[in-house]
Amino acid sequence: MRLEGLREKGNASIVAPTDAPCPTAADGFAVTVTFDFHDFTRAGLLQLAAQWGFPGMHAARLWTYVYLEGTRDWRAMSELPVRFRTKAESALHFGGLTITSETHSHDGFTRKYLLALTDGRKIETVLMRFTGRVTACLSSQAGCAMGCVFCATGQMGFVRNLTAGEIIAQAMHVDRVLRGGGSSGRMRHARRERLRNIVLMGMGEPLHNYDAVLQAVDILRDSAGLAIGGRRITLSTVGVVPGIIRLADEARPVHLAVSLHGATQAERVTLVPVAKQWPLDELMAACRYYSTKLDRRIFYEWTLIAGKNDTPEQAHAVGRLLRGQPAQVNLIPLNPTAGYEGAPAGRDVARRFQQILADYGLPSTVRQRRGIDIAAGCGQLVTTRR
Ligand code: SAH
Ligand code: SF4
Repeated sequence: MRLEGLREKGNASIVAPTDAPCPTAADGFAVTVTFDFHDFTRAGLLQLAAQWGFPGMHAARLWTYVYLEGTRDWRAMSELPVRFRTKAESALHFGGLTITSETHSHDGFTRKYLLALTDGRKIETVLMRFTGRVTACLSSQAGCAMGCVFCATGQMGFVRNLTAGEIIAQAMHVDRVLRGGGSSGRMRHARRERLRNIVLMGMGEPLHNYDAVLQAVDILRDSAGLAIGGRRITLSTVGVVPGIIRLADEARPVHLAVSLHGATQAERVTLVPVAKQWPLDELMAACRYYSTKLDRRIFYEWTLIAGKNDTPEQAHAVGRLLRGQPAQVNLIPLNPTAGYEGAPAGRDVARRFQQILADYGLPSTVRQRRGIDIAAGCGQLVTTRR
């Protein structure tokens, strides 16, 4: 299949609604425009400092204070010259995420944070500690426009895109918790540690907010900051074809996960309505292009729903679809959500599905069901729209 038409098919980035106009001087307000520090890459920050007339080394030191040392207190940045510090303090802020609530799973391995954005909109971020790894699950949008029927975020609809700074602020919050400075101290059994793994699998569709998400990835990876290697960042997409092609063309160094759920167009579209816009054959063409161009394996996610997409025939269909490709299938037993009545496939059914995939040479895993008691599992993140 030719990819040319697919690069542009559908708009890969939604423009955020601007229903809250900023006050202007004409409204009688004194307007001070400040930038969100976390919106900047290191190169961008150096450029900003140059515009202010300061050498790059001051901006570089500011960057390490914030991202390497976890400092947000301007007074503690004693190595910055006072003039630069004063200018930076008046022009920059460290985002406006406030923690509205925090819940802990009963096993102590998962924490969920409800965070309020500056406009009052809310998002959720999850901190997971599985098999010795600490992972932050970040949101890329408030709500989601994709409408997957079994997903709580899809059920709430689209509210707005997050900025790069709002995505980074979630990671910084989790990093602070791990360092011991979070709202309620460190996690049970935790040593003093740093954030090392990121999954962009929270609320929203990351490739529908491509520019902000990839700007955030650049900031996360910066070796003089959080230094989270691309191999420790996984971006999960419902199958936004132009976004997948763009990731390949730009050779972005992150793991890619594609949510499949159906191995024929007719079955997939009943669960994933956007499959109408980006049908399965176009999605698979984009995935093959990605794998070939970057010589990388793709993770395919499959939410296992009892009696819906868990039969041996469907496992064979997945096998035929992915056979010969560098692929791994992650099976996720359905997590409950208010707007969908399906039930998770049982353990034996999942095992049978895996066995069939193995016959096609496809490795697979069954995701552990963790954090379900606090609705922090895959697809359970939801907030009120305002
Ligand atoms: N929008 C992206 C990333 C967020 S969803 C995407 O769809 O890929 C992260 C994963 O959770 C996806 O694989 C999604 O299909 C899965 N998921 C959504 N709702 C779920 C549910 N109720 N139970 C289990 N997995 C679910
Ligand atoms: Fe959006 Fe992903 Fe949920 Fe689908 S599964 S509605 S793409 S967050």
